[in-house]
Amino acid sequence: MNFEKEISRRRTFGIISHPDAGKTTLTEKLLLFGGAIQEAGAVKSNKIKKSATSDFMEIERQRGISVATSVLAFIYKDKKINILDTPGHKDFAEDTFRTLTAVDSVIVVIDVAKGVEEQTEKLVEVCRMRNIPMIVFINKLDREGKDAFDLLDEVEQKLGLQVTPLSFPIGMGYDFKGIYNIYEKNINLFSGNSKQNIEETIAFDNIDSPELEKIIGEKAAISLRENLELVDGVYPPFEKEAYLNGKLQPVFFGSALNNFGVRELLDCFIEIAPAPRPKMAEERLVKANEKDFSGFVFKIHANMDPKHRDRLAFIKIVSGTFERNTPYLHVRNGKKLKFSSPNAFFAEKKEIVDISFPGDIVGLHDTGNFKIGDSLTNGEELHYKGIPSFSPEHFRYINNADPLKAKQLNKGIDQLMDEGVAQLFTLEMNNRKVIGTVGALQYEVIQYRLEHEYGAKCTYENLPVHKACWVEGNEKDEEFKEFKRVKQKFLARDKHNKLVFLADSQFSLQMTQQKYPNVKLHFTSEYE
Ligand code: GDP
Repeated sequence: MNFEKEISRRRTFGIISHPDAGKTTLTEKLLLFGGAIQEAGAVKSNKIKKSATSDFMEIERQRGISVATSVLAFIYKDKKINILDTPGHKDFAEDTFRTLTAVDSVIVVIDVAKGVEEQTEKLVEVCRMRNIPMIVFINKLDREGKDAFDLLDEVEQKLGLQVTPLSFPIGMGYDFKGIYNIYEKNINLFSGNSKQNIEETIAFDNIDSPELEKIIGEKAAISLRENLELVDGVYPPFEKEAYLNGKLQPVFFGSALNNFGVRELLDCFIEIAPAPRPKMAEERLVKANEKDFSGFVFKIHANMDPKHRDRLAFIKIVSGTFERNTPYLHVRNGKKLKFSSPNAFFAEKKEIVDISFPGDIVGLHDTGNFKIGDSLTNGEELHYKGIPSFSPEHFRYINNADPLKAKQLNKGIDQLMDEGVAQLFTLEMNNRKVIGTVGALQYEVIQYRLEHEYGAKCTYENLPVHKACWVEGNEKDEEFKEFKRVKQKFLARDKHNKLVFLADSQFSLQMTQQKYPNVKLHFTSEYE
């Protein structure tokens, strides 16, 4: 085994998009190229459908799918590619934010007709804050959509990116003829029924050659030449360094459903996308090629079978190798743990592995030792940064509905919060518990799971909170003391015992900021 080589051949990434832009379809086509699946339709969508709100079995079933598609790995041209699933549904946005801490790059899928949509904006913002390298794939070119240049403008303006197209469409919708690949200098003709075929391309490095007219017709040839000239004049040349630093985002066009433009995307991706990147721990920067193992938990999934209450903790390996039956330090609780059956993930199955490398994800069976954000190492005290909580959108008191089951309820709430299902805030004033979620759907999931997995019953009570802000202040400062006294009713502790201000309206938030300028209010739990 060559350790350095194993690292350099890994590409761990996530695909992000607004629901329906084509993430599942693109994932499936990528897997087809890797030979990881044999036919279209093999990848289940992890979409939580609207109807699920009233049907708990449906939620459970869909959670099952999301375990199955958590990590999809395949080999393509000797590269080991790990796709981490990122739910597009906004109620599960937190899950996606956390998964983004475990990817080394992302592909952003945009619908050519709809352009930049709400979820794309939010997710890209998180990637931008972390300088994650991004490639943009504009999908559904077989349909009528926005003008390519308008769309590129929109991507730049709404997403705050600096783009440069590496391919360019020839026509669109009814007139869609194909794609000119600027990166490889070839033309890919669209036949409209190449659904599963890996299509042929025509090498074409001199765009001024009259051959172009013969291939795509006169009108399309003239317009392509004009467009490419404009691309050349307006957009910066592609530079890998800039892409890797999150400063430049290459754009591809295609149609995932027709498997068109997908190979170009994948071929470019494996060439330019980063191998596992170094990761910042509180103590120091950790490089992938360090000999000692380290990794962190970015996702926890409860067992589908309520009779076995074990869970699967997903660990991203940052450095060194993770080996089966080897004791590792669970940094938060100081215990050494070893794992006899770590799971590795492939497109259609998971299996026990003896050794995994940086960039890989292993699934560890857990009986309640792990929380999201926990670090696991060979012995060094490392705490990985970068799993922030954001302010929830909904807030409700949670009440115990069965006095005999108080213990079960508390245990259940604790474990579900460790999994990251929602956030718990405990009011300073009276210790009442408040559950904050991104979407209303989670309340039903929590209630259902408390009952079925822990035998506890709960009721909820609305709490009119506009936003939760993490408070930073100096204990000795008079202003901070006054803030704490005056706002006592609105103060709570999060699960890490950090102080949180629950503002009941945008107005009161602004007033508070004005009145107590030295008390800093942060919108994420992680601040410098
Ligand atoms: P996701 O929600 O982002 O995972 O989107 P899906 O992959 O489930 O796609 C949403 C819908 O768009 C499905 O009906 C797909 O068949 C369709 N779709 C995906 N890619 C294309 C494409 O290139 N062209 C067209 N016309 N439809 C597409």
